[in-house]
Amino acid sequence: MVIPTPAAGVTAPKVGFVSLGCPKALVDSEQILTQLRAEGYQTAKSYDGADLVIVNTCGFIDAAVQESLDAIGEALAENGKVIVTGCLGAKKDAAGDDIITKVHPKVLAVTGPHAVTEVMESVHLHLPKPHDPFIDLVPDHGVKLTPKHYAYLKISEGCNHRCSFCIIPSMRGDLVSRRIDEVLLEAENLFKAGVKELLVISQDTSAYGVDVKFRTGFWNGRPIKTHMTQLVEALGQLARQHDAWVRLHYVYPYPHVDQAIPFMGDGHVLPYLDIPMQHAHPDVLKRMKRPASGEKNLERILNWRKMNPDLTIRSTFIAGFPGETEAEFEYLLDFLKEAQIDRLGCFAYSPVEGATANELANPVPEEVREERRARVMLLQEDISAKRLQAKVGKTLRVLVDEVGPREAIGRSAADAPEIDGVVHIKRPLVPGKQKLAVGQFADVVITKADAHDLWANPV
Ligand code: SF4
Repeated sequence: MVIPTPAAGVTAPKVGFVSLGCPKALVDSEQILTQLRAEGYQTAKSYDGADLVIVNTCGFIDAAVQESLDAIGEALAENGKVIVTGCLGAKKDAAGDDIITKVHPKVLAVTGPHAVTEVMESVHLHLPKPHDPFIDLVPDHGVKLTPKHYAYLKISEGCNHRCSFCIIPSMRGDLVSRRIDEVLLEAENLFKAGVKELLVISQDTSAYGVDVKFRTGFWNGRPIKTHMTQLVEALGQLARQHDAWVRLHYVYPYPHVDQAIPFMGDGHVLPYLDIPMQHAHPDVLKRMKRPASGEKNLERILNWRKMNPDLTIRSTFIAGFPGETEAEFEYLLDFLKEAQIDRLGCFAYSPVEGATANELANPVPEEVREERRARVMLLQEDISAKRLQAKVGKTLRVLVDEVGPREAIGRSAADAPEIDGVVHIKRPLVPGKQKLAVGQFADVVITKADAHDLWANPV
């Protein structure tokens, strides 16, 4: 695509952008940046060079709130014209007042998350858009903040659940699924632009389409349901055409997830499921008000592994949730021993302002929460080390993320970017062996493992 230059005499206004928070917030940032580009705004790399700054905030835990408030303070001090968006924008303090405007009354505007239109309205008000019909700088795949070879694909916004430790639904609202044709078109454009790994994200990927009663849409002239399994099948076909990967995040273990496992057979939909389980004991799950808490997770995991022995399961857990007894905690440890989760994160429970779990009886003292978290991580280190050790001697396909003078860094099907381990690939290369380039696949033989990472030689 030829990128036209602005007409002579037109100076595009510059917007600085600070993006904080999770991958879902990152996608919001990308959509705002795409819209800014579409309208002819430029982005500035420093506060100095910007005519206005947008800060996309996170409000999930107290540390994130503070980081967001500090970022807004810095942008105000360095630039002065600041628009705030994101999760913290929707958060109120105990008195019901907006947290942001109370601390930083000089901000120009505040919106909640997923508010591209409102953010753009504020930008138009405070930094009028340039009038140049030749400025249309948006590539078909939009503006991406991730490296060129992988991208997040957000399929829905919001969540219909009300987990007692979570305030996301109060900030992001109920589930709103994107149209399936739009999602698939975005995926196709990303693949065409060179993306080799697409990471499907949402608050609850398994629930995709529930809000629109699995409405039938059309893709390539064929009917297709707004449903997780049909989406996964279609994404797999696109990935195969472009020799790329699709990775599924935030999948709740509803029965229909079983139908997605066969699509993982040819390695384009990766045999990888990120299932945030949070606990194993039924009573704790009930207190957490978790979706799919009645499902038999252990049985389901063992069955999936039978269907695809290469399946990697990632999950997160909370230790020391209010009311968690030692027996309930030990039940979790026993579950982990049996389930043999490949990739696991464990957090000590931390109260989030506004969450109903704060009202639950028998809160667990902080040192016990921390101690239980450490016990989970100790057990997991052992499980992870053994599971990774079993890969030594195998040949795996990796996607190369970095190439340095001594080694390249890649990720296998079992490694999502940022959250899982990596594969260290030895360099310099022996002549005749594969060349390693960022954003390309390579086959490697695993030579060593620890509890997190693998080491390998190129084939
Ligand atoms: S499923 Fe639960 S934890 Fe996840 S966003 Fe919805 S309410 Fe929050």
